[in-house]
Amino acid sequence: MTSSARPLLNRRLAEFGTTIFAEMSALAVATGAINLGQGFPDTDGPEELREAAVRALREGRGNQYPPGPGVPELRTAVAEHQLRRYGLSYDPDTEVLVTAGATEAIAAALLALVEPGDEVVALEPYYDSYAACIAMAGGRRVPVTLRPHEGAFRLDLDELRAAVTGRTRLLLVNTPHNPTGTVLTREELTAIAELAVERDLLVVTDEVYEHLVFDDAEHIPLATLPGMRERTVTIGSAGKTFSFTGWKVGWITAAPGLVTAVRSAKQYLTYVASGPFQYAVAEALALPESYFETFRADMRARREVLAAGLGEAGFEVFRPAGTYFITTDIRPLGVTDGFAFCRALPERAGVVAIPNAVFYDHRAEGAPYVRFAFCKQPSLLEEAATRLKTLAG
Ligand SMILES: *Cc1c(COP(=O)(O)O)cnc(C)c1O
Repeated sequence: MTSSARPLLNRRLAEFGTTIFAEMSALAVATGAINLGQGFPDTDGPEELREAAVRALREGRGNQYPPGPGVPELRTAVAEHQLRRYGLSYDPDTEVLVTAGATEAIAAALLALVEPGDEVVALEPYYDSYAACIAMAGGRRVPVTLRPHEGAFRLDLDELRAAVTGRTRLLLVNTPHNPTGTVLTREELTAIAELAVERDLLVVTDEVYEHLVFDDAEHIPLATLPGMRERTVTIGSAGKTFSFTGWKVGWITAAPGLVTAVRSAKQYLTYVASGPFQYAVAEALALPESYFETFRADMRARREVLAAGLGEAGFEVFRPAGTYFITTDIRPLGVTDGFAFCRALPERAGVVAIPNAVFYDHRAEGAPYVRFAFCKQPSLLEEAATRLKTLAG
């Protein structure tokens, strides 16, 4: 035992002691509720990719430490993907780094690029690991709040500009955006890019939902905008796109100096990970366009099922342009506290959701919003919709 009354968890991480996902998933188990809280698919991705992983494992590819930057096949596949889809040219040897999922990419980028005391401007609500990683790096997070405007959560460009100070080191962006489902528009991205260039800021952009955009929304990588390629670390991941979230294969693409810096931190986190899965993901990225189209169409259909159910149940629904989450406003149901609502929902209606307030520093701003995941089988979503309709009663 330690001798003092000092808490075991250090001061930087004290506020991140427990996650809402653990609490809500435990509630789902205890009550038998349908868990639309955590965002992982309940069906595995393509069989041919599972087979590709088995093949790699059997053939002894990746069973021992793979190369630090990632296996060449995957780095090449990532570079070809960026070129084919976005016209972004990256050298697989010096401008691509494979990571243990996007989670490690985020951690390594922040640990490498942020000096203690540096300010990091992040869009709020934010993915929960951003706040913890900024804290581990000793940085100070400066949230800029996305607010509803004409049916979607949008960025206030004046607020963004006002958030940048002499101490700002980097902008941490996420598009398509979890949890709101917003896909940043070219206008918003152009404003971010102009600000980054004008104030000489680095940008870390989490684009793990790049393939999950619906209707006429378009995913525009920040690195494609003028002046951005040299200052942007772009984060991708196989987990969401190929429905294998347990494989933990992610990557960054960036200019050589940035990749070298991020790699310096990454090598002391996991060093390397996911050996055989890296080969399978190399094959995944080369799948024909029809895979990506079918995946999108399939998720879009699921979005329709859940959005309709939530609407009929009385929620205000922010129909997402991207990701596999729907953010709702619970105030039309006559309540305002998303925490209390989500704690009661499993008993009341047999469904688990996540209160968006956990993704906010300004908790009051996030209070009435609740997030549901629709990366689940359509029959389960139908059942959840039926259960939720009892709220309207
Ligand atoms: C799921 C998710 C991640 C984590 O990706 P992994 O590749 O599983 O580590 C990162 N960012 C966002 C926004 C996510 O939703």
